Amino acid sequence: MKIVKYPHPALRHVSRPLLAIDNTVRRYAAEMLDLMYLHHGLGLAGNQVALPFQLLVMNEAGDPEKKEFERVCINPIILERKGTMDGDEGCLSFPELFQKVRRARTIRVQYYTLEGQLVEMECSEMPARVLQHEIDHLEGVLYIDRMGPIARLAARSSLRTFEREFQKLQERGEIPADADLKRALAELEAQAEAQAQQPAPQPQM
Ligand SMILES: [Zn+2]
Repeated sequence: MKIVKYPHPALRHVSRPLLAIDNTVRRYAAEMLDLMYLHHGLGLAGNQVALPFQLLVMNEAGDPEKKEFERVCINPIILERKGTMDGDEGCLSFPELFQKVRRARTIRVQYYTLEGQLVEMECSEMPARVLQHEIDHLEGVLYIDRMGPIARLAARSSLRTFEREFQKLQERGEIPADADLKRALAELEAQAEAQAQQPAPQPQM
């Protein structure tokens, strides 16, 4: 598992809800947490590791020692948004690109935990920003889509650089072609669907 960079097609994929929480999902979540901490991120979405599932991990403190902030959210939904806040935002799929992004200040969200428990919570400021950023990822929406015109203009040359770099890696065969990357996502979705149809002892949701 590794973090994919813009413009990898997984970042524009609309992820499927997970139909079951099994050992595979638990392994995905553990690996995503490791990767997030390794890269000093506050959150990481399934799309960012080329997984087409509604799964995100986060730790608003960005500190692996502070487990009380660690969250694994499955099939998250934003139920309500209140107020607005402007602040700098980065993304592990866009290294070193920080720009101002406006978000709701407070949100109410619902998600399943790794134990299959349905949780509803309200949060503000940093955890609200992280959740909005990561839930966007699961819908194929990126923070560059949320930037205002000035931030977008300022980001333009970085985006061109990311695009050129990605294309170069594809030409060298170090990254598969877009069609192959999309096929890999579709295969993972088909596998998960087939698995969910088998009776399993794991908690279902
Ligand atoms: Zn991101």
